[in-house]
Amino acid sequence: MGSISDHLRGVVSQLPDGVRLVAVSKYHPAESIMEAYGAGQRLFGESHVQELQSKHSILPDDIEWHFIGHLQTNKVKYIAPYVSMIEAVDSLRLLREIERQASRCGRVIDVLLELHIASEETKYGFSFEACREMLSAGEWRDMKHVSIRGLMMMATYTDDTEQIRREMLSAATFFDEVKATWFADDDKFCERSWGMSHDYPIACECQSTLVRVGTLIFGERSY
Ligand SMILES: *Cc1c(COP(=O)(O)O)cnc(C)c1O
Repeated sequence: MGSISDHLRGVVSQLPDGVRLVAVSKYHPAESIMEAYGAGQRLFGESHVQELQSKHSILPDDIEWHFIGHLQTNKVKYIAPYVSMIEAVDSLRLLREIERQASRCGRVIDVLLELHIASEETKYGFSFEACREMLSAGEWRDMKHVSIRGLMMMATYTDDTEQIRREMLSAATFFDEVKATWFADDDKFCERSWGMSHDYPIACECQSTLVRVGTLIFGERSY
């Protein structure tokens, strides 16, 4: 079995240089987060606003919270004062609202643009074409309170590791295109968030810089 801190160390020890772990703590209690915190982890991912609000209010201030789920525009205001990154920006409308709320807080919020590459209909995100159109239109350049730090995606949930690899490599290739076309002079555009419990080793071979791992560290979630 092993403890949360053992599992955490196990995952971290597998990560190549330049890949950081987002410990995905959704549906797990604050005590579990504190156990990982005690083992040195400071970066955590949550995907529900209310749950993040209550955890943020009771847990240490030096935790960096990444919001990794689908974020409704009307909820941005609750997390804008403290969230360190919003990973799954899937529309221009959401980006505008993050800009608005970050401005109200006097902050610059890091974001990733979410790509839809997986074969499942249920996943959110920009198609490559929609992402290109949004970046070409250029409105984002006037947003002084969001910093677009890179791209995020979820591969199809499948045992077919070659399909997962294909999807992650296509995200990596698209990253290079976006970097060269719109962010060549911006060192901050550098993050590639892919890889979860079942596929993070593949992600590490496909240019990931952030892996989002929950189950392997905290165990199965009870919803
Ligand atoms: C829940 C979640 C994860 C972590 O999934 P595990 O399979 O538990 O590692 C990663 N990314 C996103 C977007 C999630 O919602």
